[in-house]
Amino acid sequence: MKNYIIALDQGTTSSRAIVFNKKHEVVASAHSEFLQIYPKPGWVEHDPSDLWASQSGVLNEVIAKAGISPKEIDSIAITNQRETTIVWDKITGKPIYNAIVWQCRRTQALCQELIEAGHGDYIKEATGLVVDAYFSATKIKWILDNVEGAQAKADKGELMFGTVDTWLIYKLTGGKVFATDYTNASRTMLFDIKNLRWDKKLLDIFNIPQSMLPKVLNSSDFYGEVNISGQLIPICAVIGDQQAALFGHTCFKAGSVKSTYGTGGFLLMNTKDKLVKSKHGLLSTISVSIDDKVEYAIEGSIFNAGSTIQWLRDELRLFSEADDTEYFSSKVSDNGGVYLVPAFTGLGAPYWDMDARGTIVGLTRGSNKNHLIRAGLESIAYQSYDILKAMENDSKLKISSIKVDGGASANNFLMQFQADILNTEIHKAKVLESSALGACFLAGLYTKFFDSKESLEKMSTVTKVYYPQMQKGDRKQYLKQWHKAVSRSLNWLE
Ligand code: ADP
Repeated sequence: MKNYIIALDQGTTSSRAIVFNKKHEVVASAHSEFLQIYPKPGWVEHDPSDLWASQSGVLNEVIAKAGISPKEIDSIAITNQRETTIVWDKITGKPIYNAIVWQCRRTQALCQELIEAGHGDYIKEATGLVVDAYFSATKIKWILDNVEGAQAKADKGELMFGTVDTWLIYKLTGGKVFATDYTNASRTMLFDIKNLRWDKKLLDIFNIPQSMLPKVLNSSDFYGEVNISGQLIPICAVIGDQQAALFGHTCFKAGSVKSTYGTGGFLLMNTKDKLVKSKHGLLSTISVSIDDKVEYAIEGSIFNAGSTIQWLRDELRLFSEADDTEYFSSKVSDNGGVYLVPAFTGLGAPYWDMDARGTIVGLTRGSNKNHLIRAGLESIAYQSYDILKAMENDSKLKISSIKVDGGASANNFLMQFQADILNTEIHKAKVLESSALGACFLAGLYTKFFDSKESLEKMSTVTKVYYPQMQKGDRKQYLKQWHKAVSRSLNWLE
């Protein structure tokens, strides 16, 4: 009877709903884009009612598309863009300001003040994060400081804060449930990821009353019920999108990694019950929690991955479709000594140099467009290599496998080169919606729709494996030249 799980994937640019069956197959999907609001340079907002309307719209649409009855739905799972901050009125249920999106840089100066006041080490120790405008804490503070009367209301216990998961749970349950999961809590910069509680000292620093904060539950847990055409369907999973992808790829072992090749690159390594503190500027974060057991991951991101390809396409006009880069780069037998370091916005982990700028080195009179395109693709693989090596060094774990997704993972040249440079197999999953699938797994484990993690692992299907083929000497040479190229890009602005 209960044959399906619906995963809601509330992303940065669109809301998606996907119906999965017991065989992990996508039965139907629906998606809807919503407005991006840019009030000032560097500021990004969403209208919370758009997030809700688009998400509930695609939920209804996907049920109709799949042609299923609500009675057949086992449960609902939620995965979401992380860190994005919504504050709403406890009495009216209405947001007091737009959602401040993770990308928004408006609180950069506030972060600088926190660092100057010497809070950086404490924040890193308690939350696993580096002080940055990316995370929710300074966004909440901004709302409390800038919306008239907000701080006074918060102090009276009349405001609620949530990341997008919390907002959706609240709306889906008709305002009955105010909760989040450990993975989302771990991205707020307010949560003590070791002792698993909201951190009192940080709440004091930001002047955020505890009454504003949701209850924190397991990622696989009961989050209340949704009424769909008179049928009450339980919400049984909530998890941040990057962690959900790690789970969806069945990266269950210590040392397993997922790498998303999108506009940027997002890499997570499972470290199981070990909370690893990075020496290379990677983040420590909660990866999942099931049955009151929390697991951890280290996370690193690449600022410019697929966007390097967009730059070669839109600014240099070397090709018209990103897909064509595979063809052009295979027309040359190697990179001809050309290296492109896409430090357009500085370099993140493990270099952390905001004064670095992009550079192309090694040009000769024989260098051509194909070499340059190839150098662009290679740069994505090298940057991933640098993060993955930092992860290995931090965690003392050997990378056991890499599961990939994201737009640029469609590029066979890039994936083969990645396998070669890392000397590790790369596995591409059948279901590309890895975040939605991860959330679906967690709901299904809770309701016993799925038997066990082991059974999920056994059934998970890989469409393509890239095996390393490069000679050791060649690999060493490529990496040596890449690191030399990086050194030329560092500290450029000084
Ligand atoms: P996001 O979710 O960040 O918007 P996607 O996962 O949709 O990103 O991937 C889009 C990115 O991938 C773009 O930056 C695009 O340039 C790049 N991309 C898409 N297809 C290819 C390809 N075949 N080869 C290389 N890059 C690609």
